[in-house]
Amino acid sequence: MDLSLVVPCFNEAENIVGFYKCVENCFEGKGFSYEIVFVNDGSVDKTLFKLKELTRNEKGNIQVVSFSRNFGKESAIYAGLSRSKGDAVCIIDADLQQRPEVVLQMKEILDEKPEVDCVAAFQQKRKEGKALSALKSCFYKFINKVSEVNFVNGASDFRLMRRQMVNAVLNMTEYHRFSKGIFSWVGFNTEHIAYEAQPREHGESKWGVIKLTKYAIEGIVAFSTAPLRIATLVGFISSLLSVIYLLIVVVQKLFFEMAVPGYATIVVLILFLGGLILFCLGIIGEYLAKIYVQIKNRPIYIEKEYFTNQAEDK
Ligand code: UDP
Ligand code: MG
Repeated sequence: MDLSLVVPCFNEAENIVGFYKCVENCFEGKGFSYEIVFVNDGSVDKTLFKLKELTRNEKGNIQVVSFSRNFGKESAIYAGLSRSKGDAVCIIDADLQQRPEVVLQMKEILDEKPEVDCVAAFQQKRKEGKALSALKSCFYKFINKVSEVNFVNGASDFRLMRRQMVNAVLNMTEYHRFSKGIFSWVGFNTEHIAYEAQPREHGESKWGVIKLTKYAIEGIVAFSTAPLRIATLVGFISSLLSVIYLLIVVVQKLFFEMAVPGYATIVVLILFLGGLILFCLGIIGEYLAKIYVQIKNRPIYIEKEYFTNQAEDK
């Protein structure tokens, strides 16, 4: 098998057939073998039904993994990579925002340059609001400062990897998966190409601002311990400031006999320090929660069904 496409699907019933046809048209006669691994991530619409229909009706190599519930795109990617058999594997969305033509472009680069292990596509122009764009670029600036690995702004999971890199990614079995970080953590030689994301054919994006914020926090906690160190630093600085203030108050009282303002200062300081302590506890809590979940060693996903139209796999 030359190429595997890993396609996470969550409520994509209207896109499945269109996606399959589009891939078939694009890859036809190009002289390489390929399979499509769909992962139904606990969809509540007719996605599974459509996938069954597709598997029955079509001749192309189709594999379907269906989860017992929604585990998230990261888990779906992991399941798809585990099931894939291609020498090169591409992760691509089901909504046709990422065109199969770009996959051909990526494959050409891998074929031409043996030293390249992975071709990742990034969006040069993002079709989103200015505020969101600015927030995203702040996130990348911050995470690149505090984390041990490099994150490329605009790079998505849309990438083609050689088998060796896929195996390395599969060896990272952590529960809280932040793919962007994992892809750079495993290393390998990655080439970035620009692509233009198309508008969604059907349905709507599952990534609202709240989900994106959670995702960003997840990424920072998974790939950096800097917030813990920042908490220590802030605690140290505020103790230092309080000692300085103490000295000022003593000098004012002893040498200048000034009346030291009491009530307001105390209330402000208590509130400020109380807030700071809770904030730092929250940071520690974030890490603790991650350790707690990881230590339970729960599976990354639960497969409820697996089916394919390939006889030898049954
Ligand atoms: N997806 C998934 N599980 C989820 C959310 C999304 O498998 O919990 C899939 C979704 O079906 C799609 C891809 O991940 O194929 C990207 O999702 P979406 O198009 O909503 O994100 P966007 O393109 O807006 O970043
Ligand atoms: Mg999309």
